[in-house]
Amino acid sequence: MSGAGAAAGAGPGGARAPYPLHLDLAGRRVLVAGGGPVAARRAGDLVAAGADVHVVSPAVCEDLRDLLPHLTWHEREAHPDDVEGAWLVHTATGDRATDDALASAAEQRRTWCVRADDADASAAWTPAVVRREVDGAAVTVSVSAGRDPRRARALKESLGRWLDGGAAPLRRGAREPGRTGRVTLVGGGPGEVDLLTLRGRRRLAEADLVVVDRLAPTGVLAELGEDVEVVDVGKTPDHHPVPQEEINRLLVEAARTGRHVVRLKGGDGYVFGRGGEEVLACREAGVEVEVVPGVTSAFSVPAAAGIPVTHRGLARSVTVVTGHDVPDAAALAAFAALEGTLVVLMGVSTLAGLAEGLIAAGKDPATPVAVVERGWTPQQRTTLAPLERIAAVAAERGVRSPAVVVVGPVADLATTVGEVAAARAQAPAGPAGLVAPPGAVAYCPGG
Ligand code: SAH
Repeated sequence: MSGAGAAAGAGPGGARAPYPLHLDLAGRRVLVAGGGPVAARRAGDLVAAGADVHVVSPAVCEDLRDLLPHLTWHEREAHPDDVEGAWLVHTATGDRATDDALASAAEQRRTWCVRADDADASAAWTPAVVRREVDGAAVTVSVSAGRDPRRARALKESLGRWLDGGAAPLRRGAREPGRTGRVTLVGGGPGEVDLLTLRGRRRLAEADLVVVDRLAPTGVLAELGEDVEVVDVGKTPDHHPVPQEEINRLLVEAARTGRHVVRLKGGDGYVFGRGGEEVLACREAGVEVEVVPGVTSAFSVPAAAGIPVTHRGLARSVTVVTGHDVPDAAALAAFAALEGTLVVLMGVSTLAGLAEGLIAAGKDPATPVAVVERGWTPQQRTTLAPLERIAAVAAERGVRSPAVVVVGPVADLATTVGEVAAARAQAPAGPAGLVAPPGAVAYCPGG
């Protein structure tokens, strides 16, 4: 028994709870007695903390050798006098008598000593630690589980996953004056909250202000702290979306007040999401900006309907186009000549013009087309018809935006999956062929 605390039975397994403390060791002398892997681990953490580390040991292991440029190595046996001048002592010599002597020297000098060999005899213990950098600040979670390091480690790992998973409230507290804000552009995926990336979810957990779009996964907003400000730029009271220049200005100005702004969009911000413009606006204003990609509706909404946008034997390429306007003749000719899949976003109102134009440009009128509305929501619906009939069928069915249009043989694969069967079951009285049974689609894969 070396220490008063240990003598009183206050070791990690004892009834008394340890007193946690985070130390600023920058520039302060710390003694590490020992040259093995445990000493190396301690020395590594101490070097990272900026301590003036003195390792005393006749020999050092490989890991310690790597640290030599950052610490002082005394190549000899440790002696109780080495404790002199140290703020903290770690013993890991592997020799009980040496550790005992160092620990009692430390005790006499009222210096904290952590013993690697005997936790019960130790005056202090190193916790299991989770460290993360959040918004430029260090977040440190220390775990002690008494005499059970395995439990401490398991807890630490679980806490790490929790911190990374986006559910942890990582938003910073009181805003420091003069602190610079920043903008993160988060691609929110096609709508379901769990199709948001972990990084995107984490950035949301850090946000002071969230600027959302109509197609963003707004379900996630309910999970954010009550004091996180949310601005919906997808619609104003009179249903007009906020103009892009105003959104850019909002992002820049909010970041300039020191806030972390998350711009949450549907799908991927760089796929017809005007994300590039927002990033440029931030850069021009000197505001730090980060982009977190998202799962784009161009690929994921067809997938929700069972359609792989490429498929061996059916499509070797995929082209994603905007249907905002009917493409001009040259573009139509190029699209009609594509052997692969054509995916059209924002193409509901121009569907008839596109279909007509493609056929006029030489596309087979029997080419299968699928229109998938509101992918990944309970209202998801798939409409299948050959190119020459798709516009009429979609009009009859009242197909509305948001929807993804898929032109090409892969569209037929939708008929093989449950979603289409379910859609058909829900609308048994619908006009025949609206959700096309395989036979109603003129094109047969491989035929
Ligand atoms: N940046 C987005 C696309 C924005 S353009 C992305 O990568 O997904 C908006 C168009 O995306 C809509 O008109 C529609 O064509 C498509 N879209 C987005 N989410 C959708 C969804 N859940 N279901 C169907 N279409 C969707």
